[in-house]
Amino acid sequence: MTLRATKRGDQRTPLGGERADVLVCGASFAGLAVARELAGAGAEVLVLDRYEIGERATSACAAPTPWLEAMGVTASIRQELPDMTFTTPHGSVRYRLPWSWSAFDYAELCHGLWAQAGHARFETAKVEGLAEDGDPADPDHVVRTDRGDVRAPLVVDALGWRRVLDRPGYQPPAAPLSRGLEVHPHVAPTAGEGALDVWVERSLARRGYAWRVPAGGEARIGVGSYEPRDHVKEPTRALAERLSVDAVRYQGNWFPHRLRPAIAGNVFFAGDSAGHCFPLSGEGIRTAFYFGIACGRELRAVVTGAADRDAALARYAAFHDAHAPAYRRALRLQRLLPALPPRVLTGLLRALAPQPLVDRAFGWYLDQAHPVYAADGVRA
Ligand SMILES: Cc1cc2nc3c(=O)[nH]c(=O)nc-3n(C[C@H](O)[C@H](O)[C@H](O)COP(=O)(O)OP(=O)(O)OC[C@H]3O[C@@H](n4cnc5c(N)ncnc54)[C@H](O)[C@@H]3O)c2cc1C
Repeated sequence: MTLRATKRGDQRTPLGGERADVLVCGASFAGLAVARELAGAGAEVLVLDRYEIGERATSACAAPTPWLEAMGVTASIRQELPDMTFTTPHGSVRYRLPWSWSAFDYAELCHGLWAQAGHARFETAKVEGLAEDGDPADPDHVVRTDRGDVRAPLVVDALGWRRVLDRPGYQPPAAPLSRGLEVHPHVAPTAGEGALDVWVERSLARRGYAWRVPAGGEARIGVGSYEPRDHVKEPTRALAERLSVDAVRYQGNWFPHRLRPAIAGNVFFAGDSAGHCFPLSGEGIRTAFYFGIACGRELRAVVTGAADRDAALARYAAFHDAHAPAYRRALRLQRLLPALPPRVLTGLLRALAPQPLVDRAFGWYLDQAHPVYAADGVRA
């Protein structure tokens, strides 16, 4: 599918006066999962993003293959990665996972999700916040954008860590956000079965890790730091040099490692805006799908008359809260593992290598947002 550039200049006609039943702000993993879940529900769904759908990737785009299958987007897969390697200064271990990762093409995946979103409409607009001078008796929210105000009774913030539709003041480096940066050099496709490679080395990230995601003819190589004050550009360059690839086509972003409320001021939050990125692994695509689907199902209940907005907000918040213990556990590990002496960590990684232990650990990990959830719904 051709990718249009984001509308500029005269093309940015005012959106003022637009009204929708559901307004989804953000057209990445979470926002598109919400819109997809609303297909066929008979609601007017409007999706806004400052860029065209699929225009700007900000991640290494690796997700569990069973999730890409469940979302109907396997055509976007560039390389399947059945193994993971973990390397420390004292050695390397290779695990065969009970499920595989797949590296995918961001634009193709987004278009694949959008193709399943039925009659939802899309506009490029920068979302600026909620109008604060609205009539309290009016059930509609008024969302300010750089193309004018848009009204809707049901509003989702899937805008990433900035969480634009809530109170400001959550900024790195004070906020609990990790930072990641990667390069995307062209490489010869790797022969045989690929692995998602992870390095846990303090010389690259004092508290964090580095990765290489082979994706067909390119590799996505980067460094993530749980400590937002630590810079990641030099380590990313150093890793690229070590792997004898060019440090080109940089992309980076912040990603959350702590949950935030799933609802605020009658707005639904899904994906990074609700802190759904998993601590320790920094994996946020699968969870953006998962909570996006949960949110979409609650909205669907409202637009089909099966529930009212308050009930939907309460149910979605309860669903989110039910996952808090797993997030807390992962956050504790995120704090603990970087503090371990590297030799102890290496020993632990080796001790985990027997297949039944790998199956158990990675089975637990997938269970925290299992792809079977995507198939359980009522989508038309
Ligand atoms: C370098 C790096 C690599 C990563 N690699 C992986 C990985 O391989 N696998 C994985 O699972 N996770 C990875 N993550 C984490 C993952 O990218 C995020 O958790 C995930 O993107 C969250 O999805 P989301 O839809 O909630 O938010 P985002 O993907 O951040 O999408 C937010 C959307 O909102 C739009 N937007 C933002 N502000 C505005 C505004 N004011 N107005 C209009 N639109 C706006 C953006 O354009 C974007 O489309 C990585 C993160 C980084 C930084």
